[in-house]
Amino acid sequence: GSTVEVDPGVEVDEEIAEDDLLGGLKIDSTEDIEVPDRLVDQVIGQDEARDIIIKAAKQRRHVMMIGSPGTGKSMLAKAMSQLLPKEDLQDVLVYHNPDDGNEPKVRTVPAGKGEQIIDAHKEEARKRNQMRSILMWIIIAIVIGYAILSGNILLGVVAAGIIWLIFRYTSRGTDAMVPNMIVNNGDQRVAPFEDATGAHAGALLGDVRHDPFQSGGMETPSHDRVEPGSIHKANKGVLFVDEINTLDIRTQQKLMTAIQEGEFAITGQSERSSGAMVQTEPVPCDFIMVAAGNLDAMENMHPALRNRIKGYGYEVYMDDTIEDTPEMRRKYARFIAQEVERDGRLPHFTDDAVEEVILEAKRRSGRKNHLTLLFRSLGGLVRVAGDIARAEDREFTTRDDVLQAKQRSRSIEQQLADDYIERRKDYELQVNEGGVEGRVNGLAVMGEDSGIMLPVMAEIAPAQGGGQVIATGQLKEMAEESVQNVSAIIKKFSDVDLSEKDIHIQFVQAGQQGVDGDSASITVATAVISALENIPVDQSIAMTGSLSVRGDVLPVGGVTHKIEAAAKAGCSRVIIPEANEQDVMIEEEYEDMIEIIPCSNISEVLDVALMGEPKKDSLVDRLKSITGSAFDQGAVG
Ligand code: ADP
Repeated sequence: GSTVEVDPGVEVDEEIAEDDLLGGLKIDSTEDIEVPDRLVDQVIGQDEARDIIIKAAKQRRHVMMIGSPGTGKSMLAKAMSQLLPKEDLQDVLVYHNPDDGNEPKVRTVPAGKGEQIIDAHKEEARKRNQMRSILMWIIIAIVIGYAILSGNILLGVVAAGIIWLIFRYTSRGTDAMVPNMIVNNGDQRVAPFEDATGAHAGALLGDVRHDPFQSGGMETPSHDRVEPGSIHKANKGVLFVDEINTLDIRTQQKLMTAIQEGEFAITGQSERSSGAMVQTEPVPCDFIMVAAGNLDAMENMHPALRNRIKGYGYEVYMDDTIEDTPEMRRKYARFIAQEVERDGRLPHFTDDAVEEVILEAKRRSGRKNHLTLLFRSLGGLVRVAGDIARAEDREFTTRDDVLQAKQRSRSIEQQLADDYIERRKDYELQVNEGGVEGRVNGLAVMGEDSGIMLPVMAEIAPAQGGGQVIATGQLKEMAEESVQNVSAIIKKFSDVDLSEKDIHIQFVQAGQQGVDGDSASITVATAVISALENIPVDQSIAMTGSLSVRGDVLPVGGVTHKIEAAAKAGCSRVIIPEANEQDVMIEEEYEDMIEIIPCSNISEVLDVALMGEPKKDSLVDRLKSITGSAFDQGAVG
C-alpha cells in the first residue's frame, strides 16, 4: 500500500507539491501530523520488504533481510510480531521430576494459565507448610509437656530444639512442588518479539544455572535453575537475529535444530557447571525467524541454516535510497513526528526544521532525486536537534537547531577526517597554491560520509630493468591500473617509451586507514603526465574521477563529500566527472568557497589542471586529437 498515511486532516496542496520540500504539506510543526498506530504502517520506503513481512506473517514463514544498518530491519521484524495472532500464545512451566531430579518436566498451557497454576501451587505449599508447622508445635508441646511431667525439663527443651531443626531442615522439600514459569505470556498483548542479536549460546538457547550448594539441603532444585533462551521466549512470535554470521557455527547448528523441531530442551551451556548435568524435557520454540545482515553476513552464515530459511521462507533486499517525490517528502515529515513521539521528550519540529532534515536526507542519499533510507542515523540527527531545543526549554525544534545538530552529529570518520586535515595543515603537508610537477591533490572517501584530500606524487626515473610501476601502500593495485590506462593514452601522443621508465607513485597519506582510493585514477594519470612532460600542476585544484583506457572520465562515488573536503583543505577549484554533476549536494557554506569543474575527458582535466601555457596547450591539443571518439580508431593498449 502506498497511500499516504499522513493525517487526512492535514491539508496537502497538490499544486505546489512538486517543488515544495514538504511535498505540499501544510503544517506549522510536526505536531500536526498523525502517527499511525501499527508499526508496519510507520515503515517508510522498503515497500518490498514490507509486503514480504505482511505475507510471511500470514503464512508463518521465515524471512532473511539483507541490507545496510539502520534501514528498518529490526523495525520490520517487530512490526511482524504485531501482525501475528495473539490467541496462540502459551506459558511454559518447568516442574520438578520426582523420578529424576536432573530431568525436569515441561508443561505448556494457554497464556495466562501459568500464573493461576503457580498461585495454586504456592497456596498448596503454604497450606502444607502451615500444617507442618501446626504438627511441629503439637509434637513440641507434647514433648515439653511430657518432660515437665517427668521432671526432666532440660531434656525436654533439647528434644524440642531438635524437632524444630528437623522440621526446618526438611521444609525445603515442599518448595520443589512449585513449578518454575520460564515463559509468561499472561500480560502479553501481542505476539512476542525477541531480539537475539549478538546473544551468546545461553541467552539464545536457554541455560541451567550453576548450583554452588549441590547437596546438603541447601541446594536449589534443578527445575528452579532453568532459564529460557530467546528461542523459547519467542515461541509463537518472532525471533530476530541481526549479524547472523557472528553466531558461532555450533550455535547456528543448534538454532537450525530448534527451527526444524519446533522445540528445544534446555541444558546448562557451560560444560563444567552443575547445570550441564541437567536437561529438561523439550521446551516449545515455534517461532518465525527473521535473520538479518549485510551481504557479507549472508556469505559467512551456516549454509544449511541459510538454505533452511531460504527453502521455507523469503529473502529480501533492503533499499538504501528511494526516489524523492512529494509523497515521500510528506512521509519524511511523518518520520520526524514518529521519532519525536517515540522519544517522548523532544519538542516537535517547525516546518522549516523539517525542510532542513529533508534536505539532509537528499544530501545523504548521494544520488540525484533520491532520499536516504538510512533512518537510524537520520533519527540521530533528529534527536540531537531536538535535544538542543529541549536543553533551552523551547516549545519547538527550529531550523537552526537542525543546522547545529548536523555540525555535532558528525560521524567518527568525519571527525577523524577533519582532525586529519587540521593536523596536516600543521605539518604543511597540504599544498593549495602554486604549481608543482608530478603532484596532484586527489580526493578520497573515508568511511561513508566524509572526504579527504589525498595528494599523489609521481616521479619518472630510467628503468633499472624493464620499466615498472612502483607504488606503495594499500592503493598499490589501483595505482598500477591507473598507470596502465594512462600509458595506453601516453603511447599515442608522447615519444617517451614507458617500458624504459620506472614510474614511482606515492600517496602522501602516511598510512591513513580506511581510505577508499578506488576513484583516484585521473589523479594518478595527471601526476604521471605532469612528471613525464615536466609541466607543473596547479595546486589550488583538487580532483576526483576514474579514467577509462579511452581517456574518458568516469563517474565515482562520494563526490559531495570530496568536494567539501577540497574546500576545507583550501582548494579553490575542484574537478569532478561530468556524469557526477547531478550528485553534487554540497552545503551552502561551501558553495562560495570552491568552484566545481565537471570534466568528461582527460584532455579537459589537463587543460584545467596543468600550468605553463605554450607547453600545456600543445600537449592538450595532441591529447584532444587522440582521446575520446578519435581514440576509437586507434588500437587500445
Ligand atoms: P536495522 O535493524 O535495519 O539496523 P532498525 O530497524 O533498528 O534498523 O532502525 C532503527 C530505527 O530507525 C528504527 O527504530 C526507526 O526509528 C528508524 N527507522 C529505520 N528504518 C525505518 C524506516 N524504513 N521507516 C521509518 N523509520 C525507520
